[in-house]
Amino acid sequence: MYRCEHFAIHELVPPGVFAARGEKGWELLDERLLTALDRLRTRFGPMTVNNYYWGHEREWSGLRTPDSPFYSPFSQHTFGRAADCLFSKWSAEEVRQEILANPADSDFVLIGSVELGTSWLHFDVRNCDRVKQYHP
Ligand SMILES: [Zn+2]
Repeated sequence: MYRCEHFAIHELVPPGVFAARGEKGWELLDERLLTALDRLRTRFGPMTVNNYYWGHEREWSGLRTPDSPFYSPFSQHTFGRAADCLFSKWSAEEVRQEILANPADSDFVLIGSVELGTSWLHFDVRNCDRVKQYHP
């Protein structure tokens, strides 16, 4: 089983899932997503997905369950295949352009899709002709 090197499970699942499943939460997330997150963290430095564990507001940026105000039945977040990321040293747009300019780079090769025009980086590991781009 793959566990992230750079993220704790509470950074990737919402509070209710963390309370109910704890470390078993890793089983709810696609290992390609987890691998891609570690590669982005290694390349771009500190980054945030969920931060509720430390008293901040983000709790739906990884896995989403039906009680989320952002829930959508076919969202990649619903299937544990998506993350919304903020970077400390890079803007989302800078990271997005790096990915789109270098889709075959080993750091990005698992990324299937990115959202355009957002102040965060949404990426996911969906099955598609990559790198798929779309507006949310
Ligand atoms: Zn997203």
